[in-house]
Amino acid sequence: MRYSKLLLPTTKEDPAEAEVVSHKLLLRAGFIRKLTAGVYSYLPLGLATLKKVSEIVRQEMNRADAQEILMPMVQQSDLWEESGRWNKYGAELLRFTDRHNRGFCLGPTHEEVITDLARRELKSYRQLPANLYQIQTKFRDEIRPRFGLMRGREFVMKDGYSFDIDDEGASLTYQKMYDAYHKVFKRCGLEFRAVEADTGSIGGSSSHEFMVLAQTGEDTLVICECCEYAANVEKAAVRVTAEKCLDVELQEMVEVETPGTKKVARVAEFLSVKTTDIIKTMIYLADGKPVAALVRGDRTVQPVKLKNILGAAEVDLLDDASAYDMTKLPVGYLGPVDLPLTVVADQEVMQMCNCVAGANKKGHHLTGVNPGRDFTPDVIGDLRQISTDDTCPSCDGTLRLTEGIEVGHIFKLGSVYSEAMNASFQDREGGEKPFVMGCYGIGVSRVIAAAIEQNHDKNGIIFPLPLAPFQVIVLNLGLKDSAITACADQIYSELLDQGIEVLLDDRDERPGSKFKDADLIGIPYRITVGKTFSKEGKVELRSRKDGQVESISHDSIVEHVVSLVSNELARTLS
Ligand code: ATP
Ligand code: MG
Repeated sequence: MRYSKLLLPTTKEDPAEAEVVSHKLLLRAGFIRKLTAGVYSYLPLGLATLKKVSEIVRQEMNRADAQEILMPMVQQSDLWEESGRWNKYGAELLRFTDRHNRGFCLGPTHEEVITDLARRELKSYRQLPANLYQIQTKFRDEIRPRFGLMRGREFVMKDGYSFDIDDEGASLTYQKMYDAYHKVFKRCGLEFRAVEADTGSIGGSSSHEFMVLAQTGEDTLVICECCEYAANVEKAAVRVTAEKCLDVELQEMVEVETPGTKKVARVAEFLSVKTTDIIKTMIYLADGKPVAALVRGDRTVQPVKLKNILGAAEVDLLDDASAYDMTKLPVGYLGPVDLPLTVVADQEVMQMCNCVAGANKKGHHLTGVNPGRDFTPDVIGDLRQISTDDTCPSCDGTLRLTEGIEVGHIFKLGSVYSEAMNASFQDREGGEKPFVMGCYGIGVSRVIAAAIEQNHDKNGIIFPLPLAPFQVIVLNLGLKDSAITACADQIYSELLDQGIEVLLDDRDERPGSKFKDADLIGIPYRITVGKTFSKEGKVELRSRKDGQVESISHDSIVEHVVSLVSNELARTLS
C-alpha cells in the first residue's frame, strides 16, 4: 500500500474526548472514528489490525476443532423468554419491536440462538461433542461506553459454544479452549494471565478470565513473578502464615484512655505499639444491615470477600457519619469486645494475642485483648486483600500487583440453557439428555486496545508484530531524487513479493513528519531510504520496539527484514 493513496488521517493533538492511552492513540493514528457514543468506524489501519486479531483467533479455534458459523445479530424475544433472560438481562439488552409489534433485541451474546440451533440440528450423541463459534458484531447498551475500543456499545467478539454429552466431556472441551486461548494471546504477542473468575449472571460452575497486563485496566490482579499464578485481588486466597502466639503469657484486658486516636497509625503512636498488634474494626453495610469486619491493623478489608463470606448481594463501606447514624456507636473507637453487631473476623486476627482494639467508648481503647478469650466472632474467614508482603499461594514466589484488561472469558455452563430451552440429544441408550454446554468469548476489538495499553511510548503505538497493520514501513526521503525513489520502490515491491505487509511512505512531506507518523502508527520495522543511500548505497533499518538502528546495504535489506519478520512470528508460534 502506498501512503499517498491511503485514508490515514493522523493528528498531532490528543483528542479531548479520550481518557486512556489506547483511545487517544487509536484516534490520533487514524485507526478509528466515532459515529456516536460507543460506536466506531474502522478506517483501513484499524480494520487491518482487527483482521489480524480475528485471523489468529480463527486459526486457533479451527485447530481446536471448533467450527465457524455466523448467527443473526437480530434476535426475537421468544427465545430470550424461553431462557428466562428477557426480563433478567438489564438495560444493556437493546430491545425494540418490529412493524408487527413483536419483541426483538440486538444480540449482546448468543446462548439463546445457539441453543435453539443445537436442539434442531444436534439430535444424537454421535454428533457430539460439537463446538461452534462466530466472529461478529455485538451490541450492549453499556451505561458508560468509554475508552474507545475498550468498552464500546458495538464491538467485535468471538463467541463460541460447546455441546457435550456429559460433565466429563464438557471438562475436556473446556480444557481444550483454555489451551487454545493461551495460544491465541501468545500469538498476539501479549503479556497476559488466566485468572479464576466469578461466573456472574451467565450462570454455570467454573470460569476463567484472560487478562492482558497493563498499567490501566478495570481489574486489579496479583501475579507471581516466578510461576503462572494470577488472581483477581477480589478473589486471591490468602494463606495464614503467622503462628498463634502459644508461649506468650496472656495479659489482662485493660481499658486505657486514648484521646484523638481514630486512626490505626495514631493508636500505634499513642500506645507505642506496632500496627500489627492492633485489631482494625471497619463498619460495612451488608444488604442494609451494619456489620463489623476485623482485620489486623496493617491490612485492608477486601469487600468482595466480605460479600461472599456473608452471602450478601451488596456490601458497602460506611463513612463515619453514616455508621454513627445507623449504630449510635462511637465510630473510630470500635472493637469486637461486646460489640452489638455481627462480627466477621479475618482468619489472621484469630492468631493475634495481647492486642489493642477499640473499647466501644469514645476516646478509649482496650489493651491485652485476646481473640477467643475476650470475644468470639460470628464468622471467621479469609477477609483481607492479598498484598505484596504475601508470597505466592502456589510456589511461595514474590507477588506483584498489576492492572488487567479482560480480553477473554471462558465458562462451563452445564445444562442451564439446555434445560431451560429443552435442548436435548439421544444418548447411547436411546434416552433423551440435555446438552452439557460451555461458552467462550474473546473481545476481538478490545484486544487492539489492550495491546496498545500494554505497548506504547510517548511517540505512539508499538504494535506487537503479529497485530501490526503493516509489518514494515519504507520511507522515501528523496521524492525528487530518482535514484532514491527507484531504490525505495524496489525495496517496497520486493518485500511485497516476499509476502511482507509493507507500507511505502511516498508522500510529499518533510522527513520529520514521516518519522513522526511512522512512530505514531506503530509499524514494527522502518526502512529509511535517503542521503546515505546516495552516498554509500546504504539504507537505515530501525526497530520501533527498542529504537535500535542498523545501516544495511540496499541490496541485502530485503533478505534481512524477511528473516527478522519470519523469526519473530515463529517465536509467537512455539
Ligand atoms: P466486562 O466485564 O468487561 O463488561 P463481560 O464480562 O460482560 O465484560 P463477556 O460476556 O465475558 O464480557 O464477553 C466476552 C468478552 O467480550 C470479554 O472478555 C471482553 O473482552 C469483551 N467485551 C465485553 N464487553 C465489551 C465491551 N463493551 N466492549 C468491548 N469488548 C467487550
Ligand atoms: Mg466476562
